[in-house]
Amino acid sequence: MSRKEWQSQSGSSPGKAASSGCLDVPGKYLRKSEVPGTQLCKLCLLQSLAGASTILDKHLEVHLWSSAGFPDTQPPSQLQKTPSLLLVTPATHHKAPSSPRPEAESRLSRQHPLLWHRTTSRHMDNPYAWRPPKSNYLPHKKVEDHNELVVQEYEPLGGPEQLEDAVFLNKCRRAAQNYNITRPKGHTVSFHVNPEMEKYHFGLTHPMKPWRLTLAKSLIMSYGMNFAMDNYLARAATYEELNSFHSEDYLDFLATVAPEPVPRDIDNPGTELKFNLGGSDCPLFEGLYDYCSMSAGSSLDAARKICSGQSDIAIAWGGGLHHAKKTEASGFCYINDIVVAILQLLRCFPRVLYIDIDVHHGDGVEEAFLSTDRVMTVSFHKYDPQNFFPGTGALTDNGPQSEQNPGAHHALNVPLQDGITDEQYGMLFRNVIGEVIQKFRPSAIALQCGADSLAGDRLGKFNLQVQGHGQCVEFCKAQNIPMILFGGGGYTPRNVARAWTHETSIAIDAADKIDATLPLHAPWRDHFRQETLFPTLEQILEAPKPNRNTPKRIEEIRMHISEQLRFVNAAPSVQMSTIPPDLGAIRDEVEARIKEERVERDDALRKLHEEAVGMPMEF
Ligand SMILES: [Zn+2]
Ligand SMILES: [Zn+2]
Repeated sequence: MSRKEWQSQSGSSPGKAASSGCLDVPGKYLRKSEVPGTQLCKLCLLQSLAGASTILDKHLEVHLWSSAGFPDTQPPSQLQKTPSLLLVTPATHHKAPSSPRPEAESRLSRQHPLLWHRTTSRHMDNPYAWRPPKSNYLPHKKVEDHNELVVQEYEPLGGPEQLEDAVFLNKCRRAAQNYNITRPKGHTVSFHVNPEMEKYHFGLTHPMKPWRLTLAKSLIMSYGMNFAMDNYLARAATYEELNSFHSEDYLDFLATVAPEPVPRDIDNPGTELKFNLGGSDCPLFEGLYDYCSMSAGSSLDAARKICSGQSDIAIAWGGGLHHAKKTEASGFCYINDIVVAILQLLRCFPRVLYIDIDVHHGDGVEEAFLSTDRVMTVSFHKYDPQNFFPGTGALTDNGPQSEQNPGAHHALNVPLQDGITDEQYGMLFRNVIGEVIQKFRPSAIALQCGADSLAGDRLGKFNLQVQGHGQCVEFCKAQNIPMILFGGGGYTPRNVARAWTHETSIAIDAADKIDATLPLHAPWRDHFRQETLFPTLEQILEAPKPNRNTPKRIEEIRMHISEQLRFVNAAPSVQMSTIPPDLGAIRDEVEARIKEERVERDDALRKLHEEAVGMPMEF
């Protein structure tokens, strides 16, 4: 659709508020198909995917605003039951919210007196400064300075204004036609993004650059792949949803702690950190809570689409933050969106297989589901406890020691060394995951596609190429099991973008259709250095790392995992009527029960023994 057509359809000129818009209907939940002028809405969604905001500025603001203000219109429990619904609030469309801030605090104290009380009463003895809660159940307010700063920061690459025109979208559509990209036959793929979260900054020298999501998304769009998927603008996860895994004291702190421009451990390396927050790994940057809830929101939306059966593969490249713990930030991760999403999957699937191909051990997810046999975790990672984060994930760490704990043997670890190649990794992955799927029979797969396992990563030291990374996605997709693809690590943005673009093309059956040469209209094309999707190892690295994985060790790993899988029942029984309210509580419960059983058993033994001693001898 040309810009002119779009204007005539929407009845408004770009940049100006329209008198009646696509969502300008009385406040209630509507199915997407019920929203008048869906086409306009789709366009604005695509625009937002492209990172553009000028043309449909007001439009987008309203989308974000209305999705943030839902507690007034619908309780969260209702929302969980209706995953396919789009939220609409009355008379908000194309009208910016009239300064909701002053009222916000009183609203908060009215709705959540407990939270308000907790946070205010604590600030006296809190070493970290305090600010009013900025949770996402308050309407977002755009801070203009902040956005300007972001644009300046990335000036060498050009600002988002490069994308602002619908011309870009037309080029993407033409690319889709050229590459013959169509919706995949037989399965549906959904794509979940929140462009707002791409604007945040961990700090100039911090390796995590949310901007890599913009780069990945714009390359995916440049190939026209968005026309083969259902594209969703993800809403931020609510406090209650994050609370399904994370503790309240941690979330409250995250939502109320003041940003700190300088990490606390820079000048004083030994500084004690509250919840591990404020150090150079997990800095307290501006808008932290919003960033976290948006990341979790996109993963949660993906999980809901899988649950409802509307998607067979749901992609959330903004998620995958696998290190976060229930009450602790860790390794650039604050909120464990994967755990929150898997908890959602467990509402409708008896068994979920979690696979992690990030270069780091997926410790947060493993720990969260340690004591359940409904989630099996398999992590492939570099293992060097002395020198490489997080230092856990040895081959012999396979969940709880006690055989009575249902989680025993349901955590598998594949510890690897520097320099592993595509062939070795792919072979091992297919062997291990093939056998796991055969034994565990998962009903859904959560695949964390951390791209720091690629060659040339700023932190990782493997020799994996984009194709080698992608073959894991290919193998999982071939199993025909509903699947979420999460992002994760990845600290060389151009290679992250390549990998996730290639993997998106695999999801929509277009890997063979697209041209390896990057489309000419791809934004920031120069930034990719080589103009191909698949640079060679020689192009990426000056010298490939020597491969420190011996065939003998790889075989050892395979054997050990086979051994573990002998203990796994083909299909553990699951009471589908029970919904796990909080796996932490379940874990405590299970552990308490095991302890009780042991005491009982010991008691019974002692009794038997005593009885035996007291019994008259018989001849
Ligand atoms: Zn709209
Ligand atoms: Zn990582």
